[in-house]
Amino acid sequence: MKYAEVKNFINGKFIDTNNRKMDVCSPLTGQVISTVPLSTSNDLNMAVEAAWNAFPNWAGLTSKKRSEVLYRYRSIVEKNKKTIASLIHDENGKTMNEAIAEVEKSIELTEFACSIPQITAGEILKVSDGVVCQTNYVPLGVVASICPFNFPHMVPHWTIPNIIALGNCVVLKSSEQVPLTVCKIAEMFKEAGLPDGVLNIVNGDKEIVEAICDHPKIKAVSFVGSTEVAKIVYRRSTYNLKRCLALGGAKNHLLVFPDANLEMTAADICASFSGTAGQRCMAASVMVAVGDVSHIIDKLCNETRKLIPGLNLGPIISLESREKIIKYIDEAEQRGAKILIDGRKTRIDDNCDKNGYYLGPTIIDYTDPEIKMPQGEVFGPVFEIVHVDNMNEAIKLENDSPYGNAASAFTQKGGIATEVTQGVSAGMTGVNIGVPVPREPFSFGGWNDSKFGAGDLTGKGGIDFWTQLKKITTKWEKQETTNWMS
Ligand code: NAD
Repeated sequence: MKYAEVKNFINGKFIDTNNRKMDVCSPLTGQVISTVPLSTSNDLNMAVEAAWNAFPNWAGLTSKKRSEVLYRYRSIVEKNKKTIASLIHDENGKTMNEAIAEVEKSIELTEFACSIPQITAGEILKVSDGVVCQTNYVPLGVVASICPFNFPHMVPHWTIPNIIALGNCVVLKSSEQVPLTVCKIAEMFKEAGLPDGVLNIVNGDKEIVEAICDHPKIKAVSFVGSTEVAKIVYRRSTYNLKRCLALGGAKNHLLVFPDANLEMTAADICASFSGTAGQRCMAASVMVAVGDVSHIIDKLCNETRKLIPGLNLGPIISLESREKIIKYIDEAEQRGAKILIDGRKTRIDDNCDKNGYYLGPTIIDYTDPEIKMPQGEVFGPVFEIVHVDNMNEAIKLENDSPYGNAASAFTQKGGIATEVTQGVSAGMTGVNIGVPVPREPFSFGGWNDSKFGAGDLTGKGGIDFWTQLKKITTKWEKQETTNWMS
């Protein structure tokens, strides 16, 4: 095996477990590169206990003192960018360029957390004569973060830096498909001087997720993954009276108008639907073509033909996922949709391993309005095109989607762009942008079936989610003798 077996990280140490183990396969080769333990509630109990033991001292530090660890951590990540990127590349399959970009995004997320002392001063106001009200952000205690496979480094950075900067301690569960990168995160936090027990990692599958939702001493749970599991986690955690924010899947609509800039639109949409092999919740999924945009579709197809699996397009995470995507394309074709670019037939780059889980990019055009596009998420390098006559129909079609992560307008007209961004039912909207991710300090979070729970997970939204507000109202006896110098 290329890598040592994965262990849980509890109280500052990597420790063995006697549990079942699962193989970790690289999508680049199909080879087993490591094993991951499938932990039980006993392992979780140890992690939660270590976290509560660490909590009083960690929460007792000033936030400026806590952020010193994050500053040091940031430089360690910067120094190790390539090593981390190759881990991501090996276990997730995304290209090295994509992996580097992912680490850079994590650095930006850490920088936001470094700024937390500057933006969490709370408020103070004299509310009546002699009476002052003040608010303080107070950490929740021990919290949990459950992660998906598609961003092994960035998604843990959506939560860990903010959680700990705000004075909480955390138990993180990475995806069992990509457990290696997270071990590196733990190592680097240790090197940065994070006290033992503040960050703990428990590996596993469904069983450990359920144990997290049920654990009486975990105060809040964040989840990022599919809608199906987001619903389970949200229901189970809130049933157990925890705070929960569960981010789910997506099917993002791009509303494209004939006047859109040809070059920019085609390049942007191509990058959006094919980046990380389409395995990202902000990927472009559907073009809602408003009127005749055939010139843009032609250009998009030309751009897409430049993508070569194994060269500039990474593989799918597993054979099972690849089969599911191929089945989706087969069924669309059987129903009469036109396959403009067929990823099932794309030639793979000569230099890559033929056992990797590669699939070419696909563009499906539902030219006949009678053929309905399925509502579900595909999560692969597949882009679908549906046709409407005008903007209102386009907005209605987007609104009918059960999801609501992202939606964008591609047009040169400000009025249309404004109506689209205001009319679509999505939490993150864009104009002439294929991946409209709000960057820090703005918060990340969708609507509808793309998110369950109130508020957002990152940026300023994360501050509210990972803290509770203490309101302090004071009145002191008047000191007649007090003067300015006393
Ligand atoms: P997933 O839902 O299969 O797994 C996510 C986590 O849940 C993993 O840690 C996994 O171990 C656990 N899990 C899986 N099945 C479970 C079950 N039945 N009960 C309890 N826990 C279970 O998701 P994934 O395949 O790892 O990631 C891809 C999905 O994540 C896509 O749907 C994508 O859109 C979504 N995603 C959403 C966002 C967002 O911000 N909305 C971001 C990234 C990924």
